[in-house]
Amino acid sequence: MEEANVLERKGKFGPGGGKIYVTRTSMPPFEEYMEMIKPLWDSHFLTNMGTYHRRLEKELEAYLEVSKASLMVNGHTALELALQSFDFPKGGEVITTPYTFISTTHAIVRNGLTPVFCDIKDDFTLDEEKIEDLVTEKTVAILPVHVYGNICNVERIEEIAYKFGLKVIYDAAHAFGEKYQGHGVGRFGDLSVFSFHATKVYSTVEGGCVCCRNQNQYDVLYNLRNFGIRSEELVVSVGSNAKMNEFQAAMGLCNLKHIDGCMEERKEVMEAYYEYLEGCSGIRMNHYHSDVKPNYAYFPVLFDSREVRDGIYAMLREHDIFPRKYFYPITADAACFRNKYRGVSLEKARDFSNRILVLPLYDELAKEDVRYICRLILNKGHNTGK
Ligand SMILES: *Cc1c(COP(=O)(O)O)cnc(C)c1O
Repeated sequence: MEEANVLERKGKFGPGGGKIYVTRTSMPPFEEYMEMIKPLWDSHFLTNMGTYHRRLEKELEAYLEVSKASLMVNGHTALELALQSFDFPKGGEVITTPYTFISTTHAIVRNGLTPVFCDIKDDFTLDEEKIEDLVTEKTVAILPVHVYGNICNVERIEEIAYKFGLKVIYDAAHAFGEKYQGHGVGRFGDLSVFSFHATKVYSTVEGGCVCCRNQNQYDVLYNLRNFGIRSEELVVSVGSNAKMNEFQAAMGLCNLKHIDGCMEERKEVMEAYYEYLEGCSGIRMNHYHSDVKPNYAYFPVLFDSREVRDGIYAMLREHDIFPRKYFYPITADAACFRNKYRGVSLEKARDFSNRILVLPLYDELAKEDVRYICRLILNKGHNTGK
């Protein structure tokens, strides 16, 4: 029964059978948040670009090293409005990746634009060498995603965009706080969009922002998020309502104080995974490029086949561990999009999607729990003696 002992849970949320989900939202100390929201009971000013909203915008601009950041109610709306801000002709084509959260593709389609799917590379990001073949006279933009915090080939993508006169909007939902060659990643492209959803590294419960290069872009986005209202009697454009409220901004201000520590803790968890899984056959882990200062948001693993992946997924669930097949299926194969758009080979995206599993990773995940998860995986036909 020695094996049974090895597999016993000893971590923070076990023994005792606490469930381990793929992530667990980092929250500030309760008192800290209470202190922060107390003044709202005096001011009764709960939304409409209040004090906390403006303060968080400034703090995030500094933290992300971007010229301007426009806070939004959530990341998806931020993406939709980012696309809308360019006023592209209806039916314009946007070259994008199908290896992403469905939000990316929805944002394109909900703008009346047409996604044109491009395959990915070994690092899960858009294959920039395949972009040019997809450009037509209808192409208006490129929408790449920094998947799992792996930064796209931003230099090459900028070159291609310049050559064909295209806009570039990055979905940077996975890349909060990262730097590429020493620069905040929100600077790349014409616009970059972050999500502050509760499942992300940095959260405002729900929330997001669009990083802009200049005041003009910021003003257009301001109008889009606030009904086009500039003053009491002046409505300058047809806008939506996508403002971040003061409770969200207060959460954001609290969390921002702790974000660097959270990432440091995540790093240690990730290192534990590397320690237990490195060199094990049948397991391919993600490694950040040396140019990237990572945020340690996700721990994706590629298995040898879909059957193996699905087996491990089911086995872990039986042990109250809930990894995610993230991203499966690719968005081009979603029931609402399948066979709808121009076909190109999405061989790698589909192959990775069939074999991917994102393992639990969050700041408070105990090393013992990581060890337990890895042991379970390795005992399932991947035993290399570790
Ligand atoms: C989370 C996420 C979004 C959407 O952000 P929300 O804040 O949840 O609306 C978009 N794209 C990607 C890649 C994401 O991971």
